[in-house]
Amino acid sequence: MSERESMPYDVVIVGAGPAGLSAAIRLKQLAAEAGSELSVCILEKGSEVGAHILSGAVIDPKALDELLPSWREDGCPLAATPVTENHHWVLSEKGKSSFPEFITPPFLHNKGTYTGSLGNLCRWLAGKAEELGVEIFPGFAAAEILYHDNGSVKGVATGDMGVARDGEHKGDYQPGLELHAKYTFFAEGCRGHLTKQLIRTFALDKGSQPQIYGIGIKELWDIDPALHVPGRVIHTQGWPLTKGANGGGFLYHQADGQVALGFVTWLNYKNPYLSPFQEMQRWKTHPEIAAILKGAKRVSYGARAISDGGWQAVPKLVAPGAALIGDAAGFLNVPRIKGTHTSMKSGMMAAEAAFAAVGAGREADELAAYPEAYEKSWVYKELRGVRNVAPLVKKFGDKFGTILAGAAMWSELLGIRWPFTMQHKPDNESLWHASEAPKIDYPKPDGVLTFDRLSSVFISNTNHEEDQPVHLTLKDPSVPIDYNLPVYAEPAQRYCPAGVYEVVGEGDDLRFQINAQNCVHCKTCDIKDPTQNINWVVPEGGGGPNYPNM
Ligand SMILES: Cc1cc2nc3c(=O)[nH]c(=O)nc-3n(C[C@H](O)[C@H](O)[C@H](O)COP(=O)(O)OP(=O)(O)OC[C@H]3O[C@@H](n4cnc5c(N)ncnc54)[C@H](O)[C@@H]3O)c2cc1C
Ligand code: SF4
Repeated sequence: MSERESMPYDVVIVGAGPAGLSAAIRLKQLAAEAGSELSVCILEKGSEVGAHILSGAVIDPKALDELLPSWREDGCPLAATPVTENHHWVLSEKGKSSFPEFITPPFLHNKGTYTGSLGNLCRWLAGKAEELGVEIFPGFAAAEILYHDNGSVKGVATGDMGVARDGEHKGDYQPGLELHAKYTFFAEGCRGHLTKQLIRTFALDKGSQPQIYGIGIKELWDIDPALHVPGRVIHTQGWPLTKGANGGGFLYHQADGQVALGFVTWLNYKNPYLSPFQEMQRWKTHPEIAAILKGAKRVSYGARAISDGGWQAVPKLVAPGAALIGDAAGFLNVPRIKGTHTSMKSGMMAAEAAFAAVGAGREADELAAYPEAYEKSWVYKELRGVRNVAPLVKKFGDKFGTILAGAAMWSELLGIRWPFTMQHKPDNESLWHASEAPKIDYPKPDGVLTFDRLSSVFISNTNHEEDQPVHLTLKDPSVPIDYNLPVYAEPAQRYCPAGVYEVVGEGDDLRFQINAQNCVHCKTCDIKDPTQNINWVVPEGGGGPNYPNM
């Protein structure tokens, strides 16, 4: 018999990101409109709402306008900085050319968008949700999916607290809590730990392309007020990435004299010697970027994977008793680098389906009304129109691929549907063997513009209880040294943006060391490990980064 206590809810939501919070708000709004009661709770693994949220962000307010139409007058921090300028630069090593706006489709112009911290938007949304009666439990990671005897989803359990590294119970041991629900929404964001299990259990990806990803590495800088132009938005492509890698940079002038800047490397990169962290540091040394950061001070650092698979990688959205919402299902519009509005809208559509089902006395069945609503929604239309953009750039490279992607976007916009949808290959299958790959010589950090990983991780404020089971689990502990090292020069040493993985020792005493307490929960290792040997599981609740306003 389980020693865990259980709590019943109508809807349990895993993850207090924009998707989970929007779903919760919509559920409560519908209940209030109908004069009925509906219990909703959200579990959040971060120590507070927003602590694990990392985004750009330039946000299309479309879903926010639908959900909370008076958000601009209601203290929402996003309202502070409307986007005023939109630039797209193509970088060479020392120079840049600007992409004229008129040749790009209007939806890339960022008209009517806002720039700000997604973490702060989530904090504000959480306040709205609580006002409506949503129970939010920060510091509680959902660690296990619970099932009814008939196989439908019954809810989730939070992880046990107070378990030592060797599995023994410590003095402060507390068993996890079971949260039972008529419907459970998985809103874990990109590459969710439970989402991965749910997709596998119900073969939700049977009819879709594999999901593919990028790794976004971001910093916040306080810049010289004379150089700060609130609302100026810059995207870059080209340098420093070379053959076999795609991605690009972003630099957003936000409120309070800060710029949010970062670099996304698509995780299908081929050279095992590539380090996304070092590419990002190098990108800042470009004369055009360095000029903006002259005399500036770095105040925060973090990283997070981003779903790039688009329309063709969206899995089946429902299983009995469960729904996938937000980036857990991969609703990101790649050329716009925007997933907040689509994630929010997906949460709202799932909420509407669940509210109707609960009202009709149903539970633990498939919410078919949610995928039906998705297929009729602007989210579906928006994602379908750009479905070939990322695959074209990946297949044909930055220059020719971008031209083809532009043609694809324009023709879909003008109603000329391309008669095919390009396919994806899983990111873990893309690496060249180290013996065939050129080594990359990254410059040393200067401590002013560029930094090393450990001093960067320090300002992510990441923190984990040290005496707990390692949450970066290896299916086979021999793989890193016996296979990954000779074949791929163990790429985990370079793709992890937090320096978690090291190969230490010499000769016959080589060991794979996992510095789990540094982890910033970006999920890159879970995605990029060549044999999928690394399985990221949730650590004790509250552990991980403590981002201020990422
Ligand atoms: C570098 C970068 C730049 C981006 N730029 C933009 C942009 O400019 N504009 C834009 O619109 N979008 C942008 N995006 C995408 C956008 O951030 C996502 O689409 C959006 O955050 C998805 O929302 P979500 O609620 O699905 O997931 P998330 O925002 O990832 O939220 C998921 C939440 O669930 C929690 N969680 C996860 N697992 C568990 C668990 N097991 N138990 C409890 N809690 C859990 C997490 O801690 C987190 O708080 C960017 C993303 C990145 C990485
Ligand atoms: S250990 Fe994995 S999830 Fe953690 S920071 Fe490194 S790559 Fe990201």
